[in-house]
Amino acid sequence: MQTNDLTGNAGVTDVKGDRSLSPHQQEDKDLYLRVIDKNREGIFVRGAKAHQTGSLSSHEIIVLPTRALRQEDEDYAVAFAIPADTKGLIHIVGRSSLDTRELEGTDCGNIRYSKYCPTLIFDDVFVPWERVFMCGEVEFAGEIVGRFSAFHRQSHGGCKAGKIDAMTGAAQIVAEYNGTSKVSHIREKIIDMIHRAETLYGCSLAASYEGKKEPSGTYFIDPVLANASKIHEGKEMAEVGRLLVDVAGGFVADLPSDRDLKNPDIGPLLQKYLKGAGDVPTMNRVKMFRLIEKMVLESADTISDIHGGGSAAAHRVTISRESDMDYKKRCAMRLAGIEG
Ligand SMILES: Cc1cc2nc3c(=O)[nH]c(=O)nc-3n(C[C@H](O)[C@H](O)[C@H](O)COP(=O)(O)OP(=O)(O)OC[C@H]3O[C@@H](n4cnc5c(N)ncnc54)[C@H](O)[C@@H]3O)c2cc1C
Repeated sequence: MQTNDLTGNAGVTDVKGDRSLSPHQQEDKDLYLRVIDKNREGIFVRGAKAHQTGSLSSHEIIVLPTRALRQEDEDYAVAFAIPADTKGLIHIVGRSSLDTRELEGTDCGNIRYSKYCPTLIFDDVFVPWERVFMCGEVEFAGEIVGRFSAFHRQSHGGCKAGKIDAMTGAAQIVAEYNGTSKVSHIREKIIDMIHRAETLYGCSLAASYEGKKEPSGTYFIDPVLANASKIHEGKEMAEVGRLLVDVAGGFVADLPSDRDLKNPDIGPLLQKYLKGAGDVPTMNRVKMFRLIEKMVLESADTISDIHGGGSAAAHRVTISRESDMDYKKRCAMRLAGIEG
């Protein structure tokens, strides 16, 4: 992957049907991706992976199981990598809250900033053996998904800390455009955005610094810090969005259309009435509101703060499993002066 500078999509999340049932218990056996046939050349797989970030812009689709599996789920213990345009792979782009504007080519600010997470259907796809990493080894399924998601949750923190930096910049600029940048409560809110970005960044960095060398020579990040980072992100990104909207004002919700701004009758009136502080061009203010609308209301990106890399319950399970509770108890016992 590194030598050829390839981009990979992580095909982990199965559609899962009834969440209370394991894969083999589902009425429709294809609700988790599974091996349906094998021959000397390779395997045939069927199923669907949901919310596949970047599947359309990746070279390789790297498929893993989505959960720990039992012996009865042997057909579902499968991992492999295939090119994104393999025969039988169907990428179905999902709707997101602001996508129609992109199709219309209007009111979307910077059209190049977007995110798509297709549903990826594996319609009896052939995978040659040299591209199969796991086939039937149920005992490794939990570990492979746990390790993948720990890395994912760590990198999410670094990514979203960067997004908060851009959101903080937008808050500062829109406050300048509005003439409120020196107001004390606005400054306080902007500082509150910064400290959330830095805490998230710190957690993400710490997960890397505390990483341990594996026997293979690669490093594995600290899973407790990585999962703590992701829980923090899920809550605090929503708070950062709230602060940004608070600083920016109501035009995040209902800014007139580019078409009205260009209309020969209404346009000049809007240029006059949407003007902010000093000599800032009205269109700069409009563009900044569009960016903020995208940052806080575009469904794919904002919902990935909560569900990307697994739901918060999954982060808690990992924290509980990986934390050294005996050490914490020993600390408390020693401080309390209790022997043992
Ligand atoms: C924008 C975005 C991008 C994503 N990108 C990718 C990607 O690139 N690749 C990829 O593989 N996945 C991706 N995901 C998927 C993500 O990992 C899942 O959304 C997440 O794991 C939750 O799964 P779900 O959406 O099926 O929700 P569900 O699993 O249905 O979860 C909904 C709620 O039910 C709870 N729940 C579900 N089952 C159980 C159970 N058995 N017991 C107790 N509680 C349960 C969950 O904890 C959660 O609170 C992405 C998701 C989003 C939103």
